[in-house]
Amino acid sequence: MAIDNTLSPHGGELIERVASPDNARHIAAGLPKLSVSDRIAREVINLSYGVFSPLDGFMVRSEVDSVVKNMTLTNGLVWSIPIVFDVTHETMSEAGLAQGDSVLLTYQDEALAVLRIIETFSYDREFMARNIYGTTNLDHPGVSRTLEMADIFLAGPVTLVNPPLINPPFDRFWKTPRQLRDRLSELGWNAVVAHQTRNVPHVGHEWMMKGALLSSEADGILVSAVIGEKKLGDYIDEAIVLAHDRLREAGFFLPDIHETSTLMWDMRYAGPREAVFHAIVRKNLGCSHHMFGRDHAGVGNYYDTYAAHQVFENLPDLGIKSVLTLEWWYCPVCQSVAYEGHCGHRDQKQDLAGTVIRRIIDGGQEPTPTTLRSEILEIVRECADKYNGGSAFVTPEYLENRAPVFSLGTLESCTCSNHQPV
Ligand SMILES: [Zn+2]
Repeated sequence: MAIDNTLSPHGGELIERVASPDNARHIAAGLPKLSVSDRIAREVINLSYGVFSPLDGFMVRSEVDSVVKNMTLTNGLVWSIPIVFDVTHETMSEAGLAQGDSVLLTYQDEALAVLRIIETFSYDREFMARNIYGTTNLDHPGVSRTLEMADIFLAGPVTLVNPPLINPPFDRFWKTPRQLRDRLSELGWNAVVAHQTRNVPHVGHEWMMKGALLSSEADGILVSAVIGEKKLGDYIDEAIVLAHDRLREAGFFLPDIHETSTLMWDMRYAGPREAVFHAIVRKNLGCSHHMFGRDHAGVGNYYDTYAAHQVFENLPDLGIKSVLTLEWWYCPVCQSVAYEGHCGHRDQKQDLAGTVIRRIIDGGQEPTPTTLRSEILEIVRECADKYNGGSAFVTPEYLENRAPVFSLGTLESCTCSNHQPV
């Protein structure tokens, strides 16, 4: 029997701004066009389907300022990362755009969405970076992303006119918040723990998920794999998603307690601020709990290892509970995978982190049930061969040649005289 998934989205209402096919042709007709980047296209899609509820579009200056200074929207709701659309002066004048205009955003030469520009503004990007990331060091990828933004921000609501066609192998895993909520209901899950990931799961991750499931007493684990901008050396997206799914397929999780999904999001590496953001987004996806391990959404040494555990202490209840987890490692004395909060042999621990797993994947070390499951190694190698010429890690060739995560079909143009303003 299906159970209603009644967890409310952030702000109480799921934002959905997707035009019907007929209406889409009307509202897109005759508008000036503006081609957008991968980054902006992903955020337009998220805004349109309510992944970023209660936002219905790109932020106006007062919202950005409130988020930067107070970590709230102007209405007082907690919000930690600015969602902005930057363009250059040249782009504005070439497209002939001004405040008050509606513009058809195009991606891959196809119509994507209509943006109603209610404000154009500039903002001190260094001030933004310092407040969001706690540093203005350009080595921080979030800081460099912020400081590289163009001069003008366009703000206003977006309406999707051409839904994305998700390409394999991601088509099985990407769902809108409404679709995902329906799926969680179908599974009969009321309490759902989100596992944010950018990794193929080693045995430490597996036990971390199992531990979170036990301690939260939730009905299931939703793996929410972040699919977006990649850095060299990251795991390729295909391997991350399919390897997580293999954990269930291979029986390490029962079929009715584990579900794999994707989130199109460009990591900002904003540490505690991004942890808050991840919690809000997963709430919008229908999750009641969110796992936070060590160095969540961190990079380098900019944040305390457990900054993401502490940040929620000073915030109002977000309506999604944190499941805080420490490290899982292999302990030769316990002769098992062991938890930092239990095992008394810390000085003998063998980390399951990066280097060991990479050595296994690269063939320099055999997988074991205490490091990486052989089933996971097998699918990771399959993905490496199929999607990246043998490497499971992002290479310059992957960045250049990978198949797009989504494509757009052609929006037939409308020739009637019944065009409605957005
Ligand atoms: Zn031990």
